[in-house]
Amino acid sequence: KVTAEIIAIGSELLGASKVDTNSLFITKHLNKLGIEVSFKTVVGDNWESLKNAFETAINRVDIVISTGGLGPTEDDFTKEVVAELCKVSLKLDEKILENLKERFKVRGIAFPENSKKMALIPENAIPIPNGPGAAPGIFLECNGKTIILLPGVPREMQYMIENFVIERLNKKYKLPQRFSISMNFASIPEAIIDNTLKEIDFEENGITYAILASLRKVQVILSGFDKEKVEEFSKKVISKFPDVFFGYGDIFLENAVLDLLIEKNKTVAFAESCTGGWLGKLITDIPGSSKAFLGGIVSYSNEAKINILNVPEKTIEKFGAVSAQTAFFMANNVRKLFNSDFGIGITGVAGPSQSEKKPAGLVYIAASSKEKTVVKKYNFRGNREMVRQQSTSRAFDLLRK
Ligand code: ATP
Ligand code: MG
Repeated sequence: KVTAEIIAIGSELLGASKVDTNSLFITKHLNKLGIEVSFKTVVGDNWESLKNAFETAINRVDIVISTGGLGPTEDDFTKEVVAELCKVSLKLDEKILENLKERFKVRGIAFPENSKKMALIPENAIPIPNGPGAAPGIFLECNGKTIILLPGVPREMQYMIENFVIERLNKKYKLPQRFSISMNFASIPEAIIDNTLKEIDFEENGITYAILASLRKVQVILSGFDKEKVEEFSKKVISKFPDVFFGYGDIFLENAVLDLLIEKNKTVAFAESCTGGWLGKLITDIPGSSKAFLGGIVSYSNEAKINILNVPEKTIEKFGAVSAQTAFFMANNVRKLFNSDFGIGITGVAGPSQSEKKPAGLVYIAASSKEKTVVKKYNFRGNREMVRQQSTSRAFDLLRK
């Protein structure tokens, strides 16, 4: 077993407003290689803390990967700390210095003296080219352990992982490749999936599984060394919940729905009240959504529902804006307004307080086509954000069916 520790360096990461996301990216790639991340450390730009963090890490894992502190400023001294710890000296790499000077020249800026330190490389270390940025990364061996120093800027860090680190680690540790498949399921409680999966003999077949549940979907990830086995078991999992399975990989319901619409050459329009345009935002986040999404109306007020969407005034008076009847008219009329194949209408009480004497979380969603209209009533739990989020998921789920 090969283990790793990730050290996220930066005082801002210890504050209340910035979280370390670099380690998530790095972990994803290490896991793909079969390397387990057994520790993560977040440390400020402080010499003693940093030295302590590296010392501890080197003693307990095989691979130490840090991000941050490679820049030209006073508080960047990751290389210096590691050099001291590994008892090696830093030497100026003329080639890197030339490259740095060239970068500044191209931009027409005089080369700042403090930038020179970005060209300092520990003895016997390999510099890692920085595609989008200036400071190179560092790959070195220290006390039989692998140490990799990467920049804090996510884009630069990612570039080095993808273009250098993965290949290096692969070569060095020759790890058997794990193969994984992720499957996505809509509107099903995590507990039900969990109980069903417990009955499948994954372990005996060398397969591990993970369930990641959110308000938008439940994702099941299977992984193992035998690709065919993983594929076989993924089919088994899907066969347990065929109705709610909506696709493989890192997708959401809107991706699956959009693909289906494009495949069938159908179009859709949205009439949104309590979701305030969220549905439209989610679908237009996807490039190419114009092939199927014609547009939407955010009819938040009763007047907008009546005047723009032609919801009969009497319907709202009698049943309320939050009602199956209003959702019905919203879906049908937005479909006619946009001349689309499908229409979605959403009206509900997002909360936190009630409205029309109806409880927060009550949402009606209608999906209409020329042939029929389906209206569903939901009682979502949670705060305003959660109610709205669940509304969008259910709307796409309704459209999918
Ligand atoms: P470099 O090694 O590139 O010089 P640095 O630590 O000197 O890194 P900073 O200016 O501190 O660079 O950080 C650059 C940007 O990257 C900042 O916006 C910072 O918040 C962000 N960043 C640094 N570390 C992380 C991390 N672990 N996760 C997410 N963002 C990070
Ligand atoms: Mg920093």
